[in-house]
Amino acid sequence: MIYKRSSELFNEAKKYIPGGVNSPVRAFNAVGGEPIFVKEAKGAYLYDEDGNKIIDYIASWGPLILGHAYDPVINAVIEKAKKGTSFGMPTEIETELAKLAVSMVPNIDKIRFVNSGTEACMSAVRLARGFKGKDKIIKFAGCYHGHSDSFLIQAGSGAVTFGSPNSPGVTEGTAKDTLLANYNDLDNVTSMVAANKGEIAAIIIEPVAGNMGCIIPSKEFITGLRELCTKEGILLIFDEVMTGFRLGRGGAQEVLGVDADIVTFGKVIGGGLPVGAFAARDEIMDYLAPNGPVYQAGTLSGNPLAMSAGLAMLTELNNNPDIFRSLAEKTEYLHKGLEKALDKKGIAYQINRFGSMISVHFTDEPVIDFESSAKGNNDTFKKYFHGMLSKGVYLPPSAFESYFLNDALSYKDLDDTIAALESLDL
Ligand code: PLP
Repeated sequence: MIYKRSSELFNEAKKYIPGGVNSPVRAFNAVGGEPIFVKEAKGAYLYDEDGNKIIDYIASWGPLILGHAYDPVINAVIEKAKKGTSFGMPTEIETELAKLAVSMVPNIDKIRFVNSGTEACMSAVRLARGFKGKDKIIKFAGCYHGHSDSFLIQAGSGAVTFGSPNSPGVTEGTAKDTLLANYNDLDNVTSMVAANKGEIAAIIIEPVAGNMGCIIPSKEFITGLRELCTKEGILLIFDEVMTGFRLGRGGAQEVLGVDADIVTFGKVIGGGLPVGAFAARDEIMDYLAPNGPVYQAGTLSGNPLAMSAGLAMLTELNNNPDIFRSLAEKTEYLHKGLEKALDKKGIAYQINRFGSMISVHFTDEPVIDFESSAKGNNDTFKKYFHGMLSKGVYLPPSAFESYFLNDALSYKDLDDTIAALESLDL
């Protein structure tokens, strides 16, 4: 494939935008080479500025679960845009989306819309701290909850690939209130809670992690975490920015059968427009301004275009919950095909999969947490990533990310992907 125009555009972008990108992982630093500039996309395919057609396994990092430029979403946005793009005043569609989201997700009575997953998690933690009157939170190494200061402590996703999961600029004062535990290690969390008895407001977790590859919580771990929080009066925050409206109508809470106290959303809930949200029972949500003392606001929050995209997306998913099953089946098919192709190569690998999330790790140890994920062979990963791209398959440009399958992918696309891997020399 030729990337001449992408390369020119990247060089131009670098003059005016730090690193040429507006979010670090897009720069391909973890895998080397230069990013591809997208011209347009439809269904399962990206079309880049050089005219290459590429099968997409990222779907804008998750939001486009029904594929790119999905007609009902696009039409809803176009119609809404004709009536004005922002008012800074209440609109009916905010309530419509809120009502639908609340009807789909367990354990939530009210939801507040923001503009990103970062804002959702940042606000959820502030609410938890205000509600509990305590400062400390526990997060898990390798989990990513956006780039607000409290979370850039051993964060996953792009933060890891830049060798700075603890970002300069985060003050020691902030960092000391974020305690760091190991994913899938209940004893570790339990002793941390005991050592900080009565001081922890919340534990925040990706209920199925997607920012150190796809990591599945053991049943014992995730149910034990719920029991621990209940026993100790700690709020359990499920960061469902990736898993919400992806793993099922009710997200990870429903699929894992574990209740959270606060849930955060992003990605799918905005249908590809900038939306985040956080939600909980009335008792907690009424602690938020203007009803309660915890402040949170946004000029563009509940933006009509974003709400219309989210409403069109959730309406489709609510009316056709079979999509979640068919996506999981496609992901399983891909899993088996990749497994067969990798077995023939005789190299060490692990594939983790949950619903429509999947990741490949080049290691012979089970990948269950940040430490085991970090042991993957990055040289092999780079060859794999660039090899697949050269065959027209776009995978996450980092071993610390999950793939997100979208419903527009056909079995022929999956077969082409598997064939691409078979033809690679790793
Ligand atoms: N939480 C999780 C689990 C995420 O994966 C992400 C982003 O990838 C975020 C929060 C932050 O969301 P955003 O990038 O919309 O700020």
